[in-house]
Amino acid sequence: MVVSTEVVQRWGGGGHGVPVTLQEFLADRGMGAAQPRPALDLAAVDVRPSRIAAEEIAGLGCAYEYDDMVRLRCSGGFSFIDLCRRRWSDSALPAVDVVLLPRSHDDVRRILDAAREKQWAVVPFGGGTSVVDGVDVTDRLTVGVAFWEMNSVLDLDSETGEVRVQPGIGGPELERWLEARGFTWGHIPQSWERATVGGYVATRSAGQTSTGFGRADATVTNLRIAAPIADFDLGRAPGTAAGPDLKQVFLGSEGSFGIITEIGLRVRPLPEKKVYEGLLFPSFVAGKRAFRQLALDRVPADMMRLSDAEESAVNLAMSGLSGITKQAFDRYTALRKVAGGCLAIVGWEGPADVVAARRAHAYTVFRQFGAVRLPATVGRSWEKNRFTAPYLRDDLLDAGYLVETLETANEWSQLDATYKAVHEGLRGALGDPLIGTHLSHIYPTGASLYFTVITPLADDPVAQWKTAKAAATQALVDTDATITHHHSVGRDHAPWLTGEVGESGVDLLRVIKAHVDPQSLMNPGVLGLG
Ligand SMILES: Cc1cc2nc3c(=O)[nH]c(=O)nc-3n(C[C@H](O)[C@H](O)[C@H](O)COP(=O)(O)OP(=O)(O)OC[C@H]3O[C@@H](n4cnc5c(N)ncnc54)[C@H](O)[C@@H]3O)c2cc1C
Repeated sequence: MVVSTEVVQRWGGGGHGVPVTLQEFLADRGMGAAQPRPALDLAAVDVRPSRIAAEEIAGLGCAYEYDDMVRLRCSGGFSFIDLCRRRWSDSALPAVDVVLLPRSHDDVRRILDAAREKQWAVVPFGGGTSVVDGVDVTDRLTVGVAFWEMNSVLDLDSETGEVRVQPGIGGPELERWLEARGFTWGHIPQSWERATVGGYVATRSAGQTSTGFGRADATVTNLRIAAPIADFDLGRAPGTAAGPDLKQVFLGSEGSFGIITEIGLRVRPLPEKKVYEGLLFPSFVAGKRAFRQLALDRVPADMMRLSDAEESAVNLAMSGLSGITKQAFDRYTALRKVAGGCLAIVGWEGPADVVAARRAHAYTVFRQFGAVRLPATVGRSWEKNRFTAPYLRDDLLDAGYLVETLETANEWSQLDATYKAVHEGLRGALGDPLIGTHLSHIYPTGASLYFTVITPLADDPVAQWKTAKAAATQALVDTDATITHHHSVGRDHAPWLTGEVGESGVDLLRVIKAHVDPQSLMNPGVLGLG
């Protein structure tokens, strides 16, 4: 296994520089003076040597890796702070002592039994796209468990519409496999190119079409888990009243209670029709009201995303509209009273007649709130570029910008307060950063808010972001929003978990942890446990 420094430091590709359109936008916003900060040569940085000898793992019967880059890759995620550490740290980097590569549930069982005997900490690693410090190491002897050889589809029950997979399979591989058999899972987050199904369910991830397809955890029908104390096989019939749903204990447990080794997922037939379109609303408030109306009517689109004015302006600036086309666009939007308005992307998937009916209803509502449909290229362009943001982040980091995101959800009646408080918190900490915000992941009672922050790097970028993130998270707590809608808790959000679930809620998590993992081996520190 060869892992290049590129894979550890960057999302990939890139190196093309920040697009001129974005450079100009940032300059207009008074942020043109960032000092470029290219990544250090990681190959020249020391990685903590392994302290677990090969003889100690020889009996486990699975492959393993001691290579420094492989160990480093499995010792961190992809948050801004993870990237700061791997791009700009010139001191030795801690890493798991060895990366184990099980092929089956039984291999995982043997690993956990050995960990219990030898007191190894165990860090499960999916795609390493955690943005909340969900993958990290301490001073303890630690084995990373990566699922690169546990990435198969186990079976498909096409009559039921259920597929069973191993945790290491990635979204693109799973979708290709399903598509060949006429099905789709439809969980497509922005990290799709790197993340794994095991990671999605361990963090309760939400994809871009979660409004229609459901968040990852909502599609799980069955889980097989190896925990230090025992194995669990949870999830039977499509509905049950057999006590609390114990699957929920492990969904979102972030490797803290055990390793998810097999996953049953609800899938659906490939859609006959897919439509993604762009609209412009006169304001964020108008767009939010339209989205809320569709949610209340119980006919939301499958994908609904509404950008605020700042995010819309960035998207428009980067769309490449210029010259006569831009003038025509400006005239068109001014005439329809949506100039400087808020961009929405909406998408429907399913049988053609159902898509037509849902779409017709949606447009009746959108028109009531003053929306104007944009040319078909806008929706197509969103589909084409839906995965580009992390590549752009690489280039912005090189150019000397802090780029990070945070997210939440709240009830319809509280969303404005949360939006305002988070913006105030971020501005209080960072001055006048660019904050692009969008509303997405629509529920009958509310929605998610997602914030992207860009500002020139300070001398100590880690402290810079930690201060801003603390202010923003406090704003979430103060406005009764969740501390995370889909990024999960990791170690970053753990200090705020008590505010979310109460002392007794955290105590309950501790009791579960003490039962399934009495030696606190599993991913220590995640969820504030162990
Ligand atoms: C650019 C970017 C875009 C993103 N976009 C989205 C988005 O649109 N929606 C969204 O929800 N999230 C998003 N994320 C966050 C991240 O992709 C998700 O949290 C994802 O679910 C993590 O999957 P992974 O396979 O990379 O898991 P990892 O990062 O490897 O692990 C995440 C956590 O799960 C644990 N874990 C992994 N596999 C297992 C297993 N088999 N058993 C037990 N525990 C396990 C790990 O120990 C860790 O605590 C994004 C992240 C990035 C960097």
